[in-house]
Amino acid sequence: MTASRLIAEAVAQEGRYAQAIPMYGTERRGAPVTAYVRIDGRPVRRRDLVHEPDIVIVIDPILSGKPSVAAGLKSGGLLLLNLPKPPEEVEIGGDFLISTVDATTIALETLRRPITNTAILGAFSKVTGIAKLESLKEAILHRFPGEIGERNVEALRRAYKEVYPPKPAKGPLRPGEEEPPHVTGYGVLKSVADWRVFKPVVDLDRCISCRFCWIYCPETAISLVDEKPVIDYDKCKGCGICVHECPVKAIELMRETL
Ligand code: SF4
Ligand code: SF4
Repeated sequence: MTASRLIAEAVAQEGRYAQAIPMYGTERRGAPVTAYVRIDGRPVRRRDLVHEPDIVIVIDPILSGKPSVAAGLKSGGLLLLNLPKPPEEVEIGGDFLISTVDATTIALETLRRPITNTAILGAFSKVTGIAKLESLKEAILHRFPGEIGERNVEALRRAYKEVYPPKPAKGPLRPGEEEPPHVTGYGVLKSVADWRVFKPVVDLDRCISCRFCWIYCPETAISLVDEKPVIDYDKCKGCGICVHECPVKAIELMRETL
């Protein structure tokens, strides 16, 4: 949501018209939801969702490897992914280009949190030229004044430098050949494991069986066996609430491997 608004604000500063359309659900912060941006030299009158985008940006590293994120992408379009590997190693194929940037590592090193929405915008600026780096910087500092804004600008600049240039998508998997990713509020109905960027791991020796994690988990992903927590990773979305609530720091968030 924030990334779409920052793009819209940046191009508006440059004299164009833009529209950011967020799709809200009830997920944890950073969970995969969808937002759309339209940009034009004339006022934008359309108000519907974008079904055939010119560019798809995926800021979630787990979803970045799934071909369905490119569904609807126009021929010759660009798929910009948050992945720690070059476009040539991405498994997705089609008549579009792929560019990649390790926005999660950049965010962890600059913001100390895996919030990748500003980092990916630096990559977007570099590979598309649609919004200038300076305009995005101004939009970020306007939204996040002070030190937080400066750190986000650092993330933006690093991604601008570190993004891999676009390459033709030559991977074996095409959009539509696997189950679509689960986005926008289906956690109760389906597995949410493919959202997870960080995975909670319990140190049972340290656990004092207080049950706080079991009580507070919003996905009822934790059950108790012999008074000790057991996490169902098909239900766990990696929100970190159990980590926060544990009074003896018996739960640690580990980064998922990609
Ligand atoms: S187990 Fe922990 S990280 Fe997973 S959904 Fe529950 S509270 Fe969130
Ligand atoms: S909150 Fe921590 S100490 Fe309490 S049951 Fe869960 S893991 Fe054990």
